[in-house]
Order: sequence, then structure tokens, then C-alpha cells
Amino acid sequence: MIRKTRLFTPGPTPLLPAAQFAMAAADTHHRTPEFRALYTRVLSQLKDFICTKSDVVVLSSSGTGAMEASVSNLTSPGDRVLVLSAGKFGERWSALVKNFGCHADVIEVPYGQTFNLDQIKAALKLETRAVFVQATESSTGVRHDIEAIANLLKAESSEALLIVDAITGLGTTHLDMDAWGIDVLIGGSQKAVMIPPGLSYLAVSDRAWDRMEATYNPRYYFDLRKERKNAAKGESAYTLPVALIAALGASLNYIAAQAATPENPEGHLAEGRKMLIDNAITCAAMTRAAATALGLKLFAPAGHEAAATTAILAPEGTDSGVIVKAFKSQFAAIVTDGQAEMKGHLFRIAHIGFFDYMDTIAIIGALEQVIASTKLPLPNFTFGQGLIAAQTLYAEHTK
Ligand SMILES: *Cc1c(COP(=O)(O)O)cnc(C)c1O
Repeated sequence: MIRKTRLFTPGPTPLLPAAQFAMAAADTHHRTPEFRALYTRVLSQLKDFICTKSDVVVLSSSGTGAMEASVSNLTSPGDRVLVLSAGKFGERWSALVKNFGCHADVIEVPYGQTFNLDQIKAALKLETRAVFVQATESSTGVRHDIEAIANLLKAESSEALLIVDAITGLGTTHLDMDAWGIDVLIGGSQKAVMIPPGLSYLAVSDRAWDRMEATYNPRYYFDLRKERKNAAKGESAYTLPVALIAALGASLNYIAAQAATPENPEGHLAEGRKMLIDNAITCAAMTRAAATALGLKLFAPAGHEAAATTAILAPEGTDSGVIVKAFKSQFAAIVTDGQAEMKGHLFRIAHIGFFDYMDTIAIIGALEQVIASTKLPLPNFTFGQGLIAAQTLYAEHTK
């Protein structure tokens, strides 16, 4: 049979066609009224998408650029900070804060787990200036309880800023930046907003803007205060990837339009975002139900699974790379292996952004074929087990 390439990866994710067309048509200079109008609208839509009243800054970089900006702009050498690390992206926070001279306390839990609040409480010092964490750890498929961490910081009257890498959390999990008291919430273009890599964005609280007045780590290209000032005029200090901004606008329109009604055909971004999140939650639940019914084990502990991506353990004695390769060679479906120490042990199917019911049923059907063709040691396997579980779950979820 012919094969259609499909990404099931936690970034880059499948592209929205309307965003691709917008990119192709984006022949605009970045210092013109036309671009300023577009950029101003996109920044305002991003606020609604992130669900915050705080100012949002867009950077020309992959997601890690915004992570670095949050460290360089909000810390000074010698600052004591707390890093919560439970996988490859948590390790990135550790490396970043150390590179900027922070004194890092690190709570490191094994891949596949999440943090215990008592552990965080014990590690939090009076002088802790910032706490760094992922909303969802893409390398393990685990969701961390950001609301509980935010509440703990409040209860402890901590001065620490809460800085959250929500690069795969935004659009897949409910996050209420303003109500919970998150200080920095970070996203990336190649995740839930369905466009190519190249942009990162962050929402920054008033408390964090104030902190920047006093911090003195070096920064130049990623100077958030400079970007904020320019953004207020519909510009960036430097040349923005105009095509990606146009794509982002088209994508946010699409997300809003999910909540369109005959009276309001443009829809509503906050409502559309909720639908996008529920979509990811449903796709993830279908995938987990299917994997379990097929006799496979999930990596994330029950109740802490990220809707961003489902990490499925390869059966004992099987290299997960074989499963990943079979998806590619049989179906041109790109699923990802485990990262770092989990390479060879698990595979990940993502649900971030432009995935729907049809995609989910297709990848589950393909998983059944892969189990059969690679002869995975699942003694009770028969075709249809995964699909029945997913269909049943979908019907119940959408009743
Ligand atoms: C994708 C991702 C990033 C950013 O990675 P880049 O390659 O720099 O875009 C950061 N954190 C998490 C949790 C991610 O999934």
C-alpha cells in the first residue's frame, strides 16, 4: 500500500493547512503598518490562548530560547533557585540555571515519576528566588501538578517566582496562570499551535517584570523588557520570522473557530482553547485505553499522565526502537522512542495540537499491526482489542 507520512511526535507536530497557506502568502515587511496590525492582533490572541492578562513576549527561537530568557532575565549570578527535574527537560533547567551562575537546589525524581509536595516544601529555602518546572515532561509523558506547586509557594509566602515550561503543557492541560500565581509560562510554536518550529513565547507576571529591574545576568538578544517595549508598538527589536507570525495568527483563528456559533462565526479563543485541551485529553485517554487493552504497560503513574504524549513501555526484552522503526517502515508514521535513559525502553505517541479522533483510531490500528508484524510477546493479543477499548472510551467521553 502507499504510505502517507504522519507525525505523532511531541514536537514538531502536524501542521495546520490554513497556517501553511498563511505562511506562503506572508510577503510583508516587518516595519510596516500591515505587519504591526498583524503582530498586535496575534499578541492579543496569544494572551487569550494562554489565558492570562499578563504581557506576552514572542522570541525568534525554539522553545529552549524562552527557557534561557526566563533564566537570564530573572536571575543574577549566585541566586539560589530550585529546579524540579523528572526527565530530559527538567535536566535542561538544571543545565541552564547552572550556566547562568545560579546556586541550584535540584529535586531529581526518576524518569516516569512526579514530585511529592513535602519534598518541595523541604527544599524551599527562605532565599529561594525562583522555582523551575515543566507542566508536562515530554520525555516521560508525566504531568506535574502545577496548581499544587503554586499553592504551596503561596502557603509558604515564598518570594520565589514560579517559572513553568509549558511548551507541551499549553493546549493539552488546563493551566490558570493568573489565578494560580504562575510567574512565567512558556510555549513553543511547534507544539499545540500547529505551526513549524522557530517561535517561542512567554507570558510574564507583574511580579516577574518587577524582578527584572534588579537582576543582572547577561542578556542581549533575549532581553524581555526590550521585547515588551517593542511589542507594545507592534514590533520586535529585531527581524521577526514574519511567515511564522502569520501562521500563528491563522492557527489561533482556527482554534477560536472550534467554538464558532451561527451568531459568532469567528468563535472564541478561550472556549476554543478548552476544546483543544479536551481534544488532547480524549485522544490520550483513547490511546491509554487501547495500550492497556492490548496488554502493554504505561510509563506514567495513573492520575499523572500528560495528555500531551502517551509513553508506552515496550514489553520486557523488546527494544522499543523496533516498534518505532516498524511504525515508520509499515505506515510512515513517526512515533518517538524514549529519550536519554529511557531510549530503547518506551515509545511515545503524541496528542498535541492538530490530532483528532481519526488520527487516534488510525495510530491505534497501526499499533495493532505493528504488534503482529514485530511479534511482540503479548500472549493474549488479538486484532481489535485496542480499537474496541478506544471506541468505547470515545463513545463514553463524548456522550
Ligand atoms: C519541545 C520541548 C521544549 C523545547 O525544545 P526546543 O527543541 O528548544 O523547541 C522544552 N520543553 C519541553 C517540555 C518540550 O517538550
